[in-house]
Order: sequence, then C-alpha cells, then structure tokens
Amino acid sequence: HMETQAWQVLDRAHYLHPFTDHASLRQAGSRVAVRGEGVYVWDTEGDRIIDGLSGLGCVNIGYGRPELVKAAADQMQALSFCQSFFNTTHPSAVLLAEKLSQILPEGLNHVFFQSSGSEANETAVRAVRRYWDLAGKPERRVIIAREAAYHGSTHMAASLSGIPPMYGAGGDIPLPSVTHIKTAYQYRNGPGMDPEEFGILAASWLEERILEIGPDKVAAFFAEPAQSAGGALCPPMSYWPEIQRICKKYDILLVVDEVVCGFGRTGKWFGSFYYGIQPDIMQLGKGITSGYLPLSACILSDRVADLLIEEGGEWAHGFTYSGHPSCCAVALENIRIMEEENIVENAEKELIPYFRAKLETFVGHPLIGDVRSVGLMGGLEIVKNRVTREAYPYEAKIGYHCSGEALKRGLAFRANGDTMSLMPPLIITRQELDTVFEIAREALDATAVAFGV
Ligand code: PLP
Repeated sequence: HMETQAWQVLDRAHYLHPFTDHASLRQAGSRVAVRGEGVYVWDTEGDRIIDGLSGLGCVNIGYGRPELVKAAADQMQALSFCQSFFNTTHPSAVLLAEKLSQILPEGLNHVFFQSSGSEANETAVRAVRRYWDLAGKPERRVIIAREAAYHGSTHMAASLSGIPPMYGAGGDIPLPSVTHIKTAYQYRNGPGMDPEEFGILAASWLEERILEIGPDKVAAFFAEPAQSAGGALCPPMSYWPEIQRICKKYDILLVVDEVVCGFGRTGKWFGSFYYGIQPDIMQLGKGITSGYLPLSACILSDRVADLLIEEGGEWAHGFTYSGHPSCCAVALENIRIMEEENIVENAEKELIPYFRAKLETFVGHPLIGDVRSVGLMGGLEIVKNRVTREAYPYEAKIGYHCSGEALKRGLAFRANGDTMSLMPPLIITRQELDTVFEIAREALDATAVAFGV
C-alpha cells in the first residue's frame, strides 16, 4: 500500500495525463482513485467522490457491475484475442454487430469496430471518401463540421473538432478538407430569438456553406445530436429535421457522432431517436461498454455499405483490436443489463424531469448566464455579466476554479470552457442527484466569492 504522496510523485515523474495543464497539476497534485461502485469513486485518502460526469460521459450503468467483469473474464478465458482481418470471425463480435443493427435506427446494418471514438470518426471519414470515390464523384471532398464540436484527438478527428486550442496541440490541423459552421448555440448565436425559429436559422448556416463551396464538392456533414464537450449545446427540435432536409436536397452524407449521446444520454437509446435523425453513418463509443473496456463502432447504412463493401473490393482499413473479443462481450452484457433493468426508460421517466428541475434552480445564480440540458446532459454557463453575456477572459480559468471547488467537496463536475457540465450515470438516484446539485451550488458559490461576485 503506497501513500497518496508517493503516488503523486511517481505520477508527476512519468505519467502524461491527457488534456491536462501539467504545471498546475504539479501544484495541485492528482487525486489517486482506487475503487468505484455505483455512482461513487474512492481515492487513496478514503474520500468518496460522487461522479457527476459518468467518468467522461461513459460509465452509464455505474461502476463495479460484477456481470461485466465476468463477461470480460469468461471471454478472455475462452478466446482472448481473435483477428478478423481476413476470413476469421468470432461470436461476440457477430452477436454485437447484430444487436446494434436491431436497436439502431433502420438501415444502419453494417458495423465496423475499433477501440475509441476518435478512431470511429477516422473510420467514418474514410468510409465517406471511399463511398464518393466508388460512386464516381471523387470531387466530393469537403467535410462540414461545427464550431465547438469535439470528435476526438487523432488528426482527422481533431480537425473535425471545432475547438481552435486543439489545433495548436501539434500536427497540421485542421486538415484542409474540413470546414466549420456556426452551431445551434442559442445563448451566443441567437439570443432572444424564438427557439424553433433559431433552429431553422442555425440549420440554414449549413445550406449557406454548401452553396459557398458548391454542392457537388461537399462530401458529408458531421455532427453530434447534442454537443457534449461543447458545453451541453442542445438544439431546438426544429434544427435536425431541417438539417436532414438540406443534406437530402444536396445529396450530402449525414454522419452522426453518437459517442456521447448514444446509450441513453438523451433519455432515448440514441440521440438520433430523440431528435428524429436518420444518419447515413453513425459513430458509437463510450457508453457501448459503459466504459468498462475500450470499444467503438462506426455503423454504415445500407446505402453506404452496399457500394463500399459489396462492390468496392477490399477496404484497406482496420485495427489490430477491431472487434476485440472481451470488449464485444462486455458491450453485449452491458446492453443486456440496460434492457433488462429498463435503465434508459427509467432515466427518461424518473430522473430527467428531476434533473431538469434541479438545473433550473440555478437560473438567477449570480455567476450563471445560461442553463441548458437534454436528457442527463446538462450545462450551466458561467458569465462575467449576465446582462451583456460577457464571458470571463480565458486566462481567468473560472470553470477550472469551479471544478476544483467541487472536487474538494467530493463532486466530479467538469468545466467545458466556462460551462459547468453534468452527465451523471443513468443509474443515479434522485437522492444522489440532490447531493450532486448541493455540492455544485456550494462550488459555484465559493467560486463567486473567489471572483468577487
Ligand atoms: N466524439 C465525441 C462526441 C466525444 O465526446 C469524444 C470524446 O469525448 C470522442 C468522439 C472521442 O472519443 P475517444 O476519446 O474515445 O477517442
């Protein structure tokens, strides 16, 4: 058993954390997490943290489910690895692909596995490119994505992301074939408008860009149903039908990143059901295994797969761990548990209205300019001036300050820019939600005091 401090010394010396300011981490020192159960994680000091974030929007059914441990171990014992590059397959991958086809929107029947959401987006882009090449329209190259989007950290996924600080992180990104449009972020992009009218306006930014580029040069539109890392940017209901109409009108592939929205986050199994989207290609990750093992999927509709797979010959794309047996076995068991325990339906009925009502108690808080949510994805946007909507300067890092205040009090509460995000596990209780919101309020109040508000 090592002391916390000893872990922190080793951590500092050797472990590069993702998306972390290591200089400030050195000062604060890491929390050393050692155990999780339900919605709680414990650290080496014995302190309990309530996870308001489902890890990173993935631990949808909570920590410590023995069924998932058993599914992984049984599969490892039976067949620890199986390559599927050529003509070998294995039951867990086949059954999972079939199961996904059954529960996804109609026509999404062809599943390609990889390990992360970033890779699923890479696969989607390669599928788009290959599709248009095979369709005899190689000039369709441009991919339109949105500002404030997060699609991952590999070259193409980071390029699809509309977060400029990521471009400075290395690599020649964004890649030149990607362009970003303004997003359905009403607080900043359509203040005071009727929400449904704003949805139509926000969708028109897609059509505008298509016409600027020339419709026959556009390959695809990439978007999340609701933007998670963008700070819970939830479009009005008029947005997606209009986007769908525009994509159809110009024959542009609609590629929907459900890495966060998938598996219940919106109160429906997929964000596409919530907003009524019929994607040509869909990406899944995170909640597919509830974060127990790394797995992602890129699912092609019949339209895309028929050309790409049936007529295209070998598709020279894949990963050693595509369809890893234990990852697939855990995903199957995770979906089985979610179905058997009606986890999504319960969240929709029992938790989401309560979560929304709790969020709304922050309307009028001196630091909060906007309150927004869809399902169990919520955001509280901190502003310097609630009348003018002026934001704090980036260097003030007020969101990080607030997360720090929350963590001190035992809540994982994330800053996406200056928006404080909550994405609790779908199995959280109302009582546990009370604790989440109590600590969130204390953290915001303490932040207000620290910033002289
Ligand atoms: N897409 C979305 C919408 C995400 O939020 C993320 C990660 O947060 C990704 C893709 C990338 O997934 P991964 O971190 O597994 O590569």
